[in-house]
Amino acid sequence: MANPLYDRLFGAHAGQDTPFLYLPDGRVISHAAFLGQAARLAHVATNLGLKPGDRVAAQVEKSPEALALYAACAQAGLIFLPLNTAYTADELSYFIDNSGAALIVCDGRNRDMLAPIAEGLGARIETLNADGSGSLTERAATMPDRFDTVARGGGDLAAFLYTSGTTGRSKGAMLTQDNLLSNAETLAREWRFTADDVLLHALPIFHTHGLFVATNIALITGGSMIFLPRFDLDQIIAQMPRATSMMGVPTFYTRLLGDARFTRELAQHMRLFVSGSAPLLAETHVEFEERTGHRILERYGMTETNMNTSNPYEGARRAGTVGLPLPGVELKVTDPETGETLPQGEIGVIEVRGPNVFKGYWQMPEKTAAELRADGFFITGDLGFVDEQGYVTIVGRGKDLIISGGFNIYPKELELLLDDQPGVLESAVIGVPHPDFGETPLGLLVPRPGQTPDTQAIMATVETALARFKHPRKLIVLEELPRNTMGKVQKNILRDQFKALFE
Ligand code: ATP
Ligand code: MG
Repeated sequence: MANPLYDRLFGAHAGQDTPFLYLPDGRVISHAAFLGQAARLAHVATNLGLKPGDRVAAQVEKSPEALALYAACAQAGLIFLPLNTAYTADELSYFIDNSGAALIVCDGRNRDMLAPIAEGLGARIETLNADGSGSLTERAATMPDRFDTVARGGGDLAAFLYTSGTTGRSKGAMLTQDNLLSNAETLAREWRFTADDVLLHALPIFHTHGLFVATNIALITGGSMIFLPRFDLDQIIAQMPRATSMMGVPTFYTRLLGDARFTRELAQHMRLFVSGSAPLLAETHVEFEERTGHRILERYGMTETNMNTSNPYEGARRAGTVGLPLPGVELKVTDPETGETLPQGEIGVIEVRGPNVFKGYWQMPEKTAAELRADGFFITGDLGFVDEQGYVTIVGRGKDLIISGGFNIYPKELELLLDDQPGVLESAVIGVPHPDFGETPLGLLVPRPGQTPDTQAIMATVETALARFKHPRKLIVLEELPRNTMGKVQKNILRDQFKALFE
């Protein structure tokens, strides 16, 4: 019986001894062995009483077994719900409770903490540790390595993926089989992935970037992955000569550039470096090309939509832009007040529509109604514009827009200028309450190692470069910017920290 997601990503490799995962300890897991493990896990879930459509919440470290759980869910028609390993007990109880999971899979260390939550929900709880041990895999050990794939349709839900929580509490995005498959097909084709690719995979697998973008591409093309538990500079450098491609968040690339071992020779065998999840500084793009000869390919997407735009594989990869809408994805820029489409070139809210767009937020009908239009366009909340060639530039998030004395200030414009100042490594500009202006911009600067930015001189430069209403009220030097696990700057934390500065 048909199950498009399972059949295309997993079932297509049945019985094949081709390598799928290369592990840092030298083990190689073939497609066939991986599918065997997935089938055993599907049996475990079914024997525990789970029925198609039930949710499996997993807060586990990255491991081949954790990935096999995703495949098992697809095969058994269960909805996979991976959770950030950084979540605390309170956060977890919210997500697990919110999702109404029938099975909770957690690290053995957290079992005692989660058991009461599971009990309250009437959910089963099993453990899966970073090394692949635990009650889940113990149960799986005696199960058959074949499982009759449960029939599903493209419109059936495959996963609930929680957003990164950069702008507020994370939301569970309901994604169908078609959402995932359509994007995997498009990206594999656009980025020229084949069965010969070896993807260097150091991203977490609880987030869309590492799970759906990276893993689904490798699966749909039959390629392999060097599967690292986390970003470890030594490991990345050791493994890169065996890889053909890598996907990362911008901090991966800045950290690589900060290491003298990262040379043109080391990256010689690579054909593609992809960046996303947060803005890649144009400066990083340029420095990367100077060092390696490779132009990083930046793309733009989100939990709710998978990927929407990408710089071209062939053709100009423009630093500072996120490229062109992907085939099948419609993108428009609208007025945040009226929802009307704006003329080309103007800054507004980015809206997208296509087979990649999710079905709504789980148990949040009001939020869904506010962000997902009846005609299928999703209001991303990101601000940007489209240039004459169709390239999209993101200028920031709507929630980060500063409105000072009635004027709109886009933090990105100030940040780009501040980043260029002597002694400044990076910056963040936020709006803080101000008695006269409502809100006023505050510039936060992180110094380059061993340097002290001259805030007075920088202020003087900014004052000559920008209109008066955009001038930051103040510049403050910080040791570092708060970032979440996906490397995103958490401006809500900064806003909270400095909210009383001018009151
Ligand atoms: P939350 O929605 O919970 O506040 P989040 O939006 O950070 O968190 P994700 O879905 O992981 O959660 O991230 C999607 C967002 O990441 C996009 O809306 C966009 O703001 C940002 N993003 C992704 N890729 C890029 C990119 N290449 N350049 C700039 N921003 C990007
Ligand atoms: Mg978001």
